[in-house]
Amino acid sequence: MNFKCPVCKKEWNSSLQVARHMFGTGDKPHKAWIDEQGKDKGFTFIDLMIEQATTPGNKSYVTVAELIEKAQGKL
Ligand SMILES: [Zn+2]
Repeated sequence: MNFKCPVCKKEWNSSLQVARHMFGTGDKPHKAWIDEQGKDKGFTFIDLMIEQATTPGNKSYVTVAELIEKAQGKL
């Protein structure tokens, strides 16, 4: 199954790759999508970027990958 970027609709075969793409792109629409998802969860795009850069592992990517998976049905 392919996973679509909820913003630009590009596809990858894993949600983690889409998460990496979202951080890598980091333009306004991609940032805004992550900020919107984090509103009720208490994080922002910048928070996740900092966490990814300062802690070992892929925690931020995994968080965003899960949101991307949940969003697939609405794309
Ligand atoms: Zn995208």
